[in-house]
Amino acid sequence: MLAPKPKDWIMAIAPYIPGRSSVDGGAKAVKLSSNENALGTSPKAIAAFAAHSTDLARYPDASATELREAIAAKYDLEPERIIYGTGSDEILHLIAGAYAGQGDEVIHVRYGFAVYEIATRRVGALPVIARDKDYATDVDAILACMTSKTRVVFIANPNNPTGTFTSRAEIARLHANLPNRVMLVIDQAYAEFLDAEDDDGALDLARTAPNVIVTRTFSKIHGLAAERIGWGYGSAEAIAAMHRIRAPFCCTIAGQAAAIAAVQDDAWVEKTREHNRVWRAWFAEEIGKLSAASLRVVPSEANFVLVLFEGALSAEAAYTQLMERGYIVRWLPGQGLANGLRITIGTEDETRGVAAALRDIVAGV
Ligand SMILES: *Cc1c(COP(=O)(O)O)cnc(C)c1O
Repeated sequence: MLAPKPKDWIMAIAPYIPGRSSVDGGAKAVKLSSNENALGTSPKAIAAFAAHSTDLARYPDASATELREAIAAKYDLEPERIIYGTGSDEILHLIAGAYAGQGDEVIHVRYGFAVYEIATRRVGALPVIARDKDYATDVDAILACMTSKTRVVFIANPNNPTGTFTSRAEIARLHANLPNRVMLVIDQAYAEFLDAEDDDGALDLARTAPNVIVTRTFSKIHGLAAERIGWGYGSAEAIAAMHRIRAPFCCTIAGQAAAIAAVQDDAWVEKTREHNRVWRAWFAEEIGKLSAASLRVVPSEANFVLVLFEGALSAEAAYTQLMERGYIVRWLPGQGLANGLRITIGTEDETRGVAAALRDIVAGV
């Protein structure tokens, strides 16, 4: 029977697979698959959210004015140059929508965030994949992918799913070698987990360069993944273009209130960063002790680590056996990482638990 036919480039998209949140059989499990805040949400953000629990009849502030002002005050930015969306995922789609279309090319790294490819294909553009340098972003490889058709370059820093960090000097070199007509998107979903001295300079670049957009999210260190709020910072022209195609009322009233409280709660962010720093180092060291079984950790600056399985124990077998022990981690064969598991740094108990489970699984091989 004849039926409406979706566009070819839409059907070329491999659907996004979210991290699992339960194990087969429904037993209670520790979820270390989506890089959420191990300590949860700032109590101040929860209180701000709760204060609006009955504000349901009216549309939210479509301009997110107070939220933009709070973000601007925190990072010393111009509020009118901040865009907001249903998670930073929406911002990534807006950028692709504003700057790329059929016949255009969009570059991202081989082991990168899955949304870049989806956002690219959605607008009919072609993803071009830059090879990695031992799982890290390789600026020279990205530059080698440039053609006259390139419109956008997406990079995450730190990168997901590898956790690797690209230095300020390398980001500057990448930008310096891109033509002005190419939009460089620096996705800083995990930037708040970096030590202060590791600022990659992306926001500074975006202050003056018309071809740089930085994206951030409230889903990771701010512990508001359920509310779906992200933001971006770019030139006035870029922001104006994105406003034309964004969803008008993207962020809820309670969500905006919670995000304002979260971005102002420096103590909660600091506590989370410190927790993550300590337990990420501890976890990496524990995995290091399993090197005889050819397990290896990719150096991470984020709130997760990519563990590579390069010996008799496969990542898939470890994934299944961790699940049986109640730990849900992320196996990413769809992203070319059939040999790796991405594991979010959880609470102390969760981190100790998943390390012990892995030790146990390795011992059983
Ligand atoms: C989690 C994540 C995001 C954003 O998620 P939202 O919840 O949509 O804000 C963006 N980029 C990367 C690399 C991520 O890991």
